[in-house]
Amino acid sequence: MNVLFATAEAVPFCKTGGLGDVCGSLPRELAKQGHQPTVILPAFRQVFESGAEIEPTGVTFQVPIGQKRVEGQFLRGRLPDSKVPVYFVDQPEYFDRPQLYGEEGEDYRDNCERFTFFSRAVLEAVVSLDLGTDLIHCHDWCTGLIPAYLKTLYSDRAPFDQIASLYTIHNLAYQGNFWHWDMVLTGIDWKHFNWRQMEFYGNLSFMKTGISFADAVSTVSPTYAREIMRPPLSCGLEGALQHRRDDLFGILNGADYDDWNPASDSCLGKNTFDVETFEVGKAACKAALQSEMGLPVNPDVPLLAAVGRLADQKGFDLIARAMRQGAQQKETQQPDAQWVILGTGEPKYHQVLGQLAAEHPQKIAVRLEFSNELAHQIEAGADMFLMPSQYEPCGLNQLYSLKYGTVPIVRATGGLADTVVNTDPQSIADGTATGFTFAEYTSLALSDVISRACQHYANKPVWHQLIKTGMQQDWSWGRSAGEYAALYQRTVEHARCEVLQ
Ligand code: ADP
Repeated sequence: MNVLFATAEAVPFCKTGGLGDVCGSLPRELAKQGHQPTVILPAFRQVFESGAEIEPTGVTFQVPIGQKRVEGQFLRGRLPDSKVPVYFVDQPEYFDRPQLYGEEGEDYRDNCERFTFFSRAVLEAVVSLDLGTDLIHCHDWCTGLIPAYLKTLYSDRAPFDQIASLYTIHNLAYQGNFWHWDMVLTGIDWKHFNWRQMEFYGNLSFMKTGISFADAVSTVSPTYAREIMRPPLSCGLEGALQHRRDDLFGILNGADYDDWNPASDSCLGKNTFDVETFEVGKAACKAALQSEMGLPVNPDVPLLAAVGRLADQKGFDLIARAMRQGAQQKETQQPDAQWVILGTGEPKYHQVLGQLAAEHPQKIAVRLEFSNELAHQIEAGADMFLMPSQYEPCGLNQLYSLKYGTVPIVRATGGLADTVVNTDPQSIADGTATGFTFAEYTSLALSDVISRACQHYANKPVWHQLIKTGMQQDWSWGRSAGEYAALYQRTVEHARCEVLQ
């Protein structure tokens, strides 16, 4: 199967979150399994700064954007350690900017135009680069127009009349909703600006467009696939999603163990470890992390960590409250602990987390930046990893935590519910426990579960059993890639049947 991944992020070229991990790893795994994936990305500034080898293809193109014709060129690279070709859509006015989607909490004002251009460029690439595409796998709102182009402006032209589309929702809350007059930029007939297709409360919605026009729709965990059928996690799109119910699938993301493996992680220096050696290895990583973050080096105090986008979704308000209580633990029941936070995002979280670290330098260390190396060191050095998310389509950090022997403490939602087994007498007895889950989105519930985890931390035989069970699990891409391959096959067959009808 010849699949073209149309995405705004792919590791190692550009990434703001899990989308980048997925689009860097899944194509490589598909290639290993004998498929022919290709990736296409905007040539963001991050891509050039990534140090990847990129060369010109010599192919330029022009696409209409409203009344204008805008020129671009295709560049070429490769996913590391693979033969998977990656094409970059180069258009410096749109993509040579400090960030991918916006700066200081504000989206770029021309995002509709930027990603309309990218979507049309993807279709140009299919022809001008002779990609032989069977299916375009579109990811999140940035690529939501592509399924619509295939079914409208491009529908009666070869090769587009033979190309199917799969639209994967990585996060339904980021919808790409724009002023309705932006329809003009897309070139798509106004007749499609209706409540069944592209219109969403008077706006043009790229997310709804992708859901409505794609041959099949998927999301990144079975639980999230169920949760988005109903408010509040449907984010207003329950009607559109229920309409696609028979073509909506939930496939859990995998972890890329080439990149995230404590036995071979180059970010850990000589302190790499596996399930046999984790006691020594993790102790060394913990000491290194404490020292790096300026915390007292103490092997006995539980070290709790969180890494992620500082957005409401991720539960950093609960973490901040739990940290405040924990840091003032003499007045509360919470056991003593250290806290390490790595993240960037909304200014209000920068402010509150920065302040907590300044007030409690012996207990709380915060880095407000994006650092892949530190993210790896935190996964290895922490004892517990916090993900008290309001919602979590899949979540990757808990998969990395399991592999690194860092016990996840998660809210039971989306992919977190699908991957972490709560510790209770039954799951301890049958050896399935891997972490701690809680249900209610309150700081009280989070503090309770942290206390529960810290009690188990003190009981080393049980704690080591949790660590070992998690480290031995296989959340690699092998299984998920097989499920995607089957879904591609089904989608192509269904799309061909529809054409024949
Ligand atoms: P989401 O896609 O919602 O942001 P995921 O858990 O699916 O959340 O994936 C987040 C990915 O981004 C993980 O690989 C995580 O390590 C990484 N990440 C997030 N914030 C940072 C940061 N500040 N520094 C380094 N890596 C980060």
